[in-house]
Amino acid sequence: MSRALTVLYRGPLSSCNYGCEYCPFAKRHETNEQHEVDAKALTRFGDWCLQRTSAPLRVFFTPWGEALTQVRYHELMTKLSHAPHVTRVAVQTNLSARLDWLKETDRSKLGLWATYHPDWTTLDRFVGQCERLLELGIRFSVGVVGFPAHRPHIEAIRKALPASTYVWINAVKKLAPTYTQDDLRFFESVDPLFRFNLTPHPSRGQACQAGESVISVDGDGTARRCHFIATPLGNLYDADFEAALRPRACSNDTCGCHIGYVHLDYLELRKVFGAGLLERIPTDLSATRISHPG
Ligand code: SF4
Ligand code: SF4
Repeated sequence: MSRALTVLYRGPLSSCNYGCEYCPFAKRHETNEQHEVDAKALTRFGDWCLQRTSAPLRVFFTPWGEALTQVRYHELMTKLSHAPHVTRVAVQTNLSARLDWLKETDRSKLGLWATYHPDWTTLDRFVGQCERLLELGIRFSVGVVGFPAHRPHIEAIRKALPASTYVWINAVKKLAPTYTQDDLRFFESVDPLFRFNLTPHPSRGQACQAGESVISVDGDGTARRCHFIATPLGNLYDADFEAALRPRACSNDTCGCHIGYVHLDYLELRKVFGAGLLERIPTDLSATRISHPG
């Protein structure tokens, strides 16, 4: 019997209009043929989502590159948002592309995880895009990569957005040992959940929803527990695939990425994020200030 399922989709698309120096997809262009391969995989995935009506479905697009510069992602997200059994459609984006397509979606189901890259856009432009989302009534979080050199940009974006917009900071794990106490205080003053991201959470042997009610799927339909454990569970497009989903303990030592550790049962972050789990919006930020384990 089917049960509610969350699918993180990451197809072949691996191009991006931005050029972040730490990213392998920076300024990478794809040929028409490569876009066609992505489009075909996306159509197949979309058809599966639309036909899998047996239980609620939440879909989170976590592309290698930037998906919202491609109209095919707008079209599929719009279609999915109107499907009665699809309860959430979320995407990670740099928020550079046009946003008018969102008017056609069921906005109550949309969620955007928007990252502000101050080296590749201006504060005014990024804030303008956020204002447009607010006008449209689209739920979104805004995040910045936690380089100490980004502190002035982080301060500026926090000031420019309403207090009700959650601004998260992703710890740069390589730099974590060099963060000063002042950096940590600053990051935490902006993002009360920063230490959850800074901490590599012990996960081996721990119960995690990944592989039970959450899966990660690639363009061929290969389904894995999450983006961090390579062993496949099976193929999404096999008729009996969901029989493979069951409770499992994590086989990695630690889990350090939001899109993974939010599914670790013992962290109880589902209570913190509630319906905003995928797009990273806590239900009540003030209630989270005392509960981090770090
Ligand atoms: S916006 Fe994202 S995908 Fe694009 S270069 Fe920067 S980190 Fe990579
Ligand atoms: S704890 Fe992280 S690495 Fe382990 S199964 Fe869950 S999401 Fe995957």
